[in-house]
Amino acid sequence: MPKKISIIGSGFSSLSAACYLAKAGYEITVFEKNIKPGGRARQLKRDGFTFDMGPSWYWMPDIFDKFFADFNKKTADYYSLDQLSPAYKIFFSDDIITIGDSLEKISEEFERIEPGSSKPLKKFILKAKENYSIAIDKVVLRPGISPFELVTKETILKVDQFFKTISSEVRKNFKNKKLISTLEFPVLFLGAKPNKTPSFYNFMNFADFGLGTWHPKGGMYEIIKAMLSLAEELGVTIHTNSAVEKINIENRCANGVTIKGKTIFSDYVLSGADYHHSETLLSKEYRQYSEKYWSKKTFAPSSLLFYIGFNKKLRNIEHHNLFFDTDFEQHAEEIYDEPKWPTDPMFYANFPSVTDESMSPTGCETGFFLIPIAPDLEDTPELREQYFNLMMKRFEQKTKQTVKDHILFKESFCVSDFQEEYNSYKGNAYGMANTLSQTAFLRPKLKSSKVKNLYFTGQLTVPGPGVPPSLISGKLVSELIIKANK
Ligand SMILES: Cc1cc2nc3c(=O)[nH]c(=O)nc-3n(C[C@H](O)[C@H](O)[C@H](O)COP(=O)(O)OP(=O)(O)OC[C@H]3O[C@@H](n4cnc5c(N)ncnc54)[C@H](O)[C@@H]3O)c2cc1C
Repeated sequence: MPKKISIIGSGFSSLSAACYLAKAGYEITVFEKNIKPGGRARQLKRDGFTFDMGPSWYWMPDIFDKFFADFNKKTADYYSLDQLSPAYKIFFSDDIITIGDSLEKISEEFERIEPGSSKPLKKFILKAKENYSIAIDKVVLRPGISPFELVTKETILKVDQFFKTISSEVRKNFKNKKLISTLEFPVLFLGAKPNKTPSFYNFMNFADFGLGTWHPKGGMYEIIKAMLSLAEELGVTIHTNSAVEKINIENRCANGVTIKGKTIFSDYVLSGADYHHSETLLSKEYRQYSEKYWSKKTFAPSSLLFYIGFNKKLRNIEHHNLFFDTDFEQHAEEIYDEPKWPTDPMFYANFPSVTDESMSPTGCETGFFLIPIAPDLEDTPELREQYFNLMMKRFEQKTKQTVKDHILFKESFCVSDFQEEYNSYKGNAYGMANTLSQTAFLRPKLKSSKVKNLYFTGQLTVPGPGVPPSLISGKLVSELIIKANK
């Protein structure tokens, strides 16, 4: 009889693990607390507008290709992809930088800002490319069990890059503040400040300038839909509206979950819910990490988000737009060093309907606005409105148009929603940051050291935050389970 596995949550990591484990012959049941699957990548549909509620940047297309190839499929079997051109636009206080869809175009833009800068840029991206192949082929596919996983002949040659920061590396090569912010932006996806992120992680710059920014037609939720179809083809059962209340243990071995007071048996339990929450489903003696452990960790930011339907097409915008027209350093300090609502925040605005007309009604624009903020901040309707007004004012000034009078509806999402909807620790949006002391084997473990047959996956484990790492996390944990059962 095939062994049964209960999987908690239906985010990217859980769905990835579900597919790999079902392919290996296990009987998989996924339990998701929310009505819709997809976790932080859920979709909001309203009055003909389509919003991705979380991720919107499709980076590292090779990782998605590899995931589907593991099942003899292609992304094209499920969704169609467009490379965005330009990839994105950055508004600064005195200029706008446009990031094109090739290194050549980006180099020209760098030259316009800082003559002579295209040469160090090309060198920097070449190094980033080397790091990308080492990271993807040699480092991230390790389960984070031992420090020796990081020791390969390639990483030994780059060991200094684990002790220098991305910030110092960028500043060594570029003097212009706008170019520095442009090159520091991609590591924000890893959840920490650039001056706390090892320079080895500049492989994110290759992901950005080398591999390009893509858009699945219909939005990022198309990937979730693809994974749900694949999971169904592989025989996975998914129950939504099914919050797990308890992970059941017998003789220090996980043997199922409790939902709505009902015990459901399985041979293994795998949780893709936030790690801290998953451990609260166990009695204290079975938890590996104390409250003190979690409170000392650097968490990735939370976010204040707005999903807005506009009744007209907007001007002077691209699909992805970054508003770095305020002090990058100060905002970062207010997220990580002295957590408080930001004085003068940077923000991000996404208009998928600029390139994909299926995302909004004709003549309208779908708008997603995001302000990164520290986790665990006070979250009130008044604060949300205050920051909404501040952001709209700056958006109108920078894009030279009125938009506030053209809003059909707006919905917001912030710290308390992350906590309520996803059981997220302190309302974090992107899990635990990838700093040097929170990398690889130093991250929360995929396998419980206290309970047999209990496993964890997701953005708080290895390799870390983001959609591609979550896909990899599901693969890594499934390999551990399959190996343990051989
Ligand atoms: C606003 C935002 C923007 C982002 N932008 C990007 C981007 O542009 N590109 C990118 O690559 N990444 C981005 N990310 C990060 C990316 O979305 C995440 O890293 C990834 O989706 C995390 O997947 P996961 O499986 O680890 O967790 P989750 O998606 O959080 O899945 C966990 C699931 O567990 C469920 N759950 C919790 N408790 C229980 C319980 N007791 N019982 C049953 N189910 C439970 C939750 O409801 C949830 O569905 C973004 C994230 C956010 C929030």
